[in-house]
Amino acid sequence: MVSCSDCNARCCRQEVPLFGETAVPEWLVEVDEQGNRVLHRLEDGWCALLDRSSMRCTIYADRPFVCRQFELGGIECLELRAEPGALRTS
Ligand code: SF4
Ligand code: SF4
Repeated sequence: MVSCSDCNARCCRQEVPLFGETAVPEWLVEVDEQGNRVLHRLEDGWCALLDRSSMRCTIYADRPFVCRQFELGGIECLELRAEPGALRTS
């Protein structure tokens, strides 16, 4: 059974378009090349709202729509988990 507990939050390296979410601080909102509002990601690719010690979302209860739609165990999730370094070893 697929679980986030052994995964280094690979899905939190995807671009997150925003649709009026209010839980995202405005200083973490960027405009991409297409003019869409997106959540800021750090230089290493991870979302700025990810707690790096626990690898958990710091606004989980109010996370953006796109994050809510991401399906645990879905095709995209399984593809990300198959990438080198995706799973925790300890
Ligand atoms: S990629 Fe899948 S298993 Fe990993 S954190 Fe995201 S939803 Fe969980
Ligand atoms: S808002 Fe939360 S769930 Fe969405 S990408 Fe960022 S850390 Fe992950």
